[in-house]
Amino acid sequence: MPELPEVETVTADLRPHLVGREITGCDLRFPAIVRHPSPAAFAAGVTGRRIEAMSRRGKYILHHLDSGELLVVHLGMTGQWRYVAPGTEEPTHLHAVFQLDDGFQLRYRDVRRFGRLLLGTDEELVAGRKMPRLGPEPIDASFTAADFYRRLHVRRAPLKALLLDQMVVAGVGNIYADEALFRAQVHPLRPAGRLTRAHWGALVPAIVDTLAAGIAANGASIDDFRDLDGARGSFQDEFLVHRHEGDPCPRCGGTVRKLVVGGRGTYVCERCQPRPRRPRGIVR
Ligand SMILES: [Zn+2]
Repeated sequence: MPELPEVETVTADLRPHLVGREITGCDLRFPAIVRHPSPAAFAAGVTGRRIEAMSRRGKYILHHLDSGELLVVHLGMTGQWRYVAPGTEEPTHLHAVFQLDDGFQLRYRDVRRFGRLLLGTDEELVAGRKMPRLGPEPIDASFTAADFYRRLHVRRAPLKALLLDQMVVAGVGNIYADEALFRAQVHPLRPAGRLTRAHWGALVPAIVDTLAAGIAANGASIDDFRDLDGARGSFQDEFLVHRHEGDPCPRCGGTVRKLVVGGRGTYVCERCQPRPRRPRGIVR
C-alpha cells in the first residue's frame, strides 16, 4: 500500500505537469471509484477547472482547484495516478480519465479498487467523514518528540497500532512503522504508556529518518507501486526488518521474526526490540 513516501513521490512528480492545467473533460469508467459527491456532480465539478496547486496530506494527493474545492486522490492498495501523452495505449482496469488542456490525460487505474476519488472543500470532506481528521505531518517541523509524548504517553494501545492510526500521525503505514520501530528499538507491542525516556527520545527521529530515506529512494515498490515514469522506487532494497523474516538482524545478528499485530504482518528483532513484560499485578 502506498504510504507517505510513495504518495509524496507521485505528488512531486506530477506537480510540474499539472499546476496551471485546466481539466477539460472527465470520463468515469468505473463511477463507484468516486466516493463524494455523486459521480455526475464530481465530473461536473472538475470539468472546466484549473489546478492551481498540488499538495500531499498523509496518504492523500490534493489538487487545489480554482473553484476553491479539492480534487482528492487516495491510491488505496494498488492505485496509479498517471499523466500520459495523447494516444498512449489504455491499460486494463482504467477507472477514470481526465482530459487536460495540453492534450495530455490524467488517468486513474486501480486493479484492486481500494482507492478513491473525492471532490469538496477540506471542511466538507472531513465533516462528512470522507477523509479522516488527519494527525500531524511527520516530516513537518511541528512534529516533535515533546508533542508526540504529550499526546501518547497516557495511551495503552500497542505503539504499532498507534503509528498506523492516521489521526495520531498522518501517512505512516505498515512498512514505515516496522522500520521506524526497529530503528528506535521499540517492540511493536509495547504500550505507548510504557515507553522509557530513551524510547521517547529515539522514536520521533526514527520515524522522520525512515520516511526521509523512503522519499530519497522514491518510495518502495511492493504491491506494484510505480512512479510517474513507470519506474520502481527502491526503498524495498533498504528495508532493515520489514519482509526479512528469518534473516539476520542488521544490528545484532539475531533473527528477524514475523508477528501479527492488529492483523498486520509485523517484523521485529526481539533482541534489539525486547518484548514488553506483562505489567505487575496481572496474573494469568
Ligand atoms: Zn537485533
